[in-house]
Amino acid sequence: MTATSDDSKWTEESIWDIRYWTDTLLSFKITRPAQYLFKPGHYSRLGLQDEHGQLIWRAYSVVSAPAEDFLEYYGVIVPGGMFTSRLKQLRPGDRIYLDKQAFGFMTADRFTDGDTLWMLATGTGLGPFISILRDGAVWKQFRQLVLVHGARHVADLSYTNELQAIQASQAHGGSQLQLFQSVTRDGDGTPLPAGVLHGRITTLLENGRLEQAAGHAITPEGARVMLCGNPAMIEETRALLHSRDMRPLRRASPGHFVAENYW
Ligand SMILES: Cc1cc2nc3c(=O)[nH]c(=O)nc-3n(C[C@H](O)[C@H](O)[C@H](O)COP(=O)(O)OP(=O)(O)OC[C@H]3O[C@@H](n4cnc5c(N)ncnc54)[C@H](O)[C@@H]3O)c2cc1C
Repeated sequence: MTATSDDSKWTEESIWDIRYWTDTLLSFKITRPAQYLFKPGHYSRLGLQDEHGQLIWRAYSVVSAPAEDFLEYYGVIVPGGMFTSRLKQLRPGDRIYLDKQAFGFMTADRFTDGDTLWMLATGTGLGPFISILRDGAVWKQFRQLVLVHGARHVADLSYTNELQAIQASQAHGGSQLQLFQSVTRDGDGTPLPAGVLHGRITTLLENGRLEQAAGHAITPEGARVMLCGNPAMIEETRALLHSRDMRPLRRASPGHFVAENYW
């Protein structure tokens, strides 16, 4: 259900589906107005009403692909968070507000060259990369795709089954997807599931383990990098990329990496 008035900046939508991965991590789908346009990597502004009827707005990366007829998001419930304490109470059919415009600069089509796309995410920063991988365009743009998802616990590695299915399917043509997951709290002395690494993404970049495992190096010639999630990860990775002569994408000039901080 979409309700709107022409002069309003937002539409009134409803929650369609909610899935909890853990006590605090959830994916939710909302109705999508036919005129809502976005590119994979964009984010929406979502609004919920407080007890005084005021709208609280927060940014959420779109997880669904542009071709899908709903909008999906991946969120974490922040303890005491103004927005997420209300998000937690929502049930299918409940009302949510959607800014009519989609926002953001972290889209793969801004890269003009490169043959390997590295997508580095912490926590819910995974969301935009799911949208990018569900869409077909990036598979034609790059020869190799590398997705790295870092979280605290193995239980926080949401979307694993879907990502493995995307990786195994030949639906998107010739390019390859490599998946890496890493956890910081589990695995120190206890066994981890096959393929899950232990350590922060930045540590695995600094000690070369990620590039070794992927079989290619992050260089200005071949690699383009997208970073999303925790500002500390982004800051440290940015410094590492700068030390390799890599530059951020700017509005008017080409570059090697682009980042989106969640807070
Ligand atoms: C461009 C952009 C896109 C975003 N996309 C998403 C998204 O797809 N999913 C999502 O869950 N959040 C996303 N966020 C964060 C989101 O907008 C809110 O900050 C978050 O939901 C908390 O709102 P709140 O009012 O409950 O908490 P607030 O009272 O606003 O608390 C903010 C604090 O919560 C913590 N925090 C906020 N977001 C996160 C997070 N994602 N993971 C861990 N800790 C966090 C930080 O410590 C931050 O200082 C995005 C933010 C930006 C700027």
